[in-house]
Parts: sequence; structure tokens; C-alpha cells
Amino acid sequence: MIENTCGKGWQSLISSTIEKVHEVDPSIKFSYIKEKFGKLSFGLDIEYYNTAATKVAALEEILCEAERNSETICEDCEAVGTINYDKYGFWMKCLCDTCREIKNSTISPPSAGKPLAPSKKTVKVAKKDLGRKNPFKK
Ligand SMILES: [Zn+2]
Repeated sequence: MIENTCGKGWQSLISSTIEKVHEVDPSIKFSYIKEKFGKLSFGLDIEYYNTAATKVAALEEILCEAERNSETICEDCEAVGTINYDKYGFWMKCLCDTCREIKNSTISPPSAGKPLAPSKKTVKVAKKDLGRKNPFKK
């Protein structure tokens, strides 16, 4: 199964989405499962131009539904959450009030003038990306 760096609150949504995708086609592989702008985001390793339109539509529906659901599920604890910025306006995350408070209490202000380093937790550089100019740009 593909690794994902999402919080534990999303893991059951992620596994049910993988299941639904595999009901459409068990051979489909995911190219990524990650958090993007506070929402859950999936990439499928399929050749869309080479795939029947009905199948693509079915897959898109599954992934869009999962993405929509992730907008209201706390990524950390699975309670009802909302997407919002942290107190410094640095990152967007879907969190419940309790988890947001915890998260906000552990972060320090981003230093002024310095570019912010991508967090080690969420950025994984694939071997094939290493030759590119900016490995963090997707
Ligand atoms: Zn929470």
C-alpha cells in the first residue's frame, strides 16, 4: 500500500477511498496520497487518455467525494473539523477546535525574511525527481 503522510484522523477515509477505487479497477495504483491546502489529495497512476471515459468519471467521483469529505474531518483526530490557517497564516489544515489549539500552541512564528524550509514530514523526494531543478516543485 502506498505511504501517506496524512494525519491519523484521515486514515479511515483514505482506506475506504482506496477500496472504492479498487472496486472500479483492482490494478490501479496511487501515485500520491497527501494533504494539499488543507484537503486530502489523491493521484492515480493511470493513463487517462487510454482509459474509458466512464471509468475515469467513476474514479473522479470517488476522489472528489473523498476530497470533499476531508474538508470536514479533523486530520488529527477524525472529529468534525474545518479548514483554516494557523495563527501565523502559514499553513492551512483541516482541524477541529481542540487540535487547532494544540497545533497553534506548538508552533513558533516563521522568521521574517527567510524562506521557509519545507517540513520534513510532508516532503518526500522521489529518486526520479532528484535531477530536476527544484525537487519540491510538483
Ligand atoms: Zn481534532
